[in-house]
This record gives sequence, C-alpha cells and structure tokens, in this order.
Amino acid sequence: MHEDFLKIKAAVESCTLCSLSATRTNAVFGMGFPDAEIMLIGEGPGHDEDVKGLPFVGRSGQLLDKILEACGFNRKDHVFIANIVKCRPPENRVPTPLERETCIPYLHKQIEMIDPKIIVLLGATALQGLIDPDAKITRLRGNWLNWNNRLVMPTYHPSALLRTPGLKKDAWEDFKKSGGEIQGTCKS
Ligand code: SF4
Repeated sequence: MHEDFLKIKAAVESCTLCSLSATRTNAVFGMGFPDAEIMLIGEGPGHDEDVKGLPFVGRSGQLLDKILEACGFNRKDHVFIANIVKCRPPENRVPTPLERETCIPYLHKQIEMIDPKIIVLLGATALQGLIDPDAKITRLRGNWLNWNNRLVMPTYHPSALLRTPGLKKDAWEDFKKSGGEIQGTCKS
C-alpha cells in the first residue's frame, strides 16, 4: 500500500476529532484494492465492523460479497470499500451531520488516492454525505450522478435489501450498470 495511504489509515485509527471516538472499539478505515476502479461507500461501521475493524463483515457484508461475486469482482482484487464515518455510531444510529462533516475529509482523501472510475453509494447516508444532504435515495438510485468529474451510482444499502427483499431487483440493476462501466461481467 502506498505510504500516503498508510498515513491516512494511521490518522483514522488514532482520530479523536468527533465524539464517536469515545465509544468505538476500532476505527474502520476501509479495505480492498488501493488502485480499484470501483469504490463502494456505505454509512458507517456496525457492531461486527467495530469489533473487527473492517467494513461490511456482518450479514450485510455477506450479501454485498455475493453481489460483487456475481459481477465478477472481489474485495481483494477489484474494489475498495469505505464508509462516510469511520467509527461506529452508538446503537447503530445514523451519523449526525456534524459527525459526517468532521469525518468526510478522510473519505475525500481516500477517493483522491484510489482514483476510482466509479463510486457506488450504498444507501441514503452515503448519498447525502457525499452528494447532497437533502438527496433521496429512493428518487436518485439507479441514476448516474457526477461528483468532482467522477461517475457515481447511488443504490440501496445491503441492510435495506435484507430488511426489504423486494428492493433487491432494483439494486441488482444498479450494480449491473456499475459493473457494465468497468467490465460488463454481472450475471443476471
Ligand atoms: S468518525 Fe471520523 S472524525 Fe469521528 S473520530 Fe472517527 S475517524 Fe475521527
């Protein structure tokens, strides 16, 4: 991993810029391929992620891995996964606007260094944190957006797909669009 990337990781892991640092077990920097063409961004760590210090390792993560696999991707070789906030909000509440704003410079640096061709935003918090605090995931999902001259695809968070399986069809279409931009290997 590039030295500057490791410096940001170290800064995140020792960060105390917001109150989430007081209740976390581990900050979750992110994981994946540092030169990935596709970057996935979620909301923040949950219980399992906080314990392990890795993103998307619970049931949502297992579903995400299945979707990625169906698109011909895996975490190690093709994507980088990060979150809007790097520390777990207590009781898995949604991060506050202040927490999001305090943490977002780390994500901006990650995006700059990874330089992905596509960013996939997983859920409303990711959409609102990166693009527009008032944006609605139900209205914008499946539509290509632009952020700093990068293609951005908002879709549902895997935990929403677990809660409401009827959303899976739409999410799958969104991932097929995203995969198609890279290598077009998603299997229906
Ligand atoms: S959530 Fe972000 S800003 Fe807050 S303590 Fe963790 S790394 Fe720092």
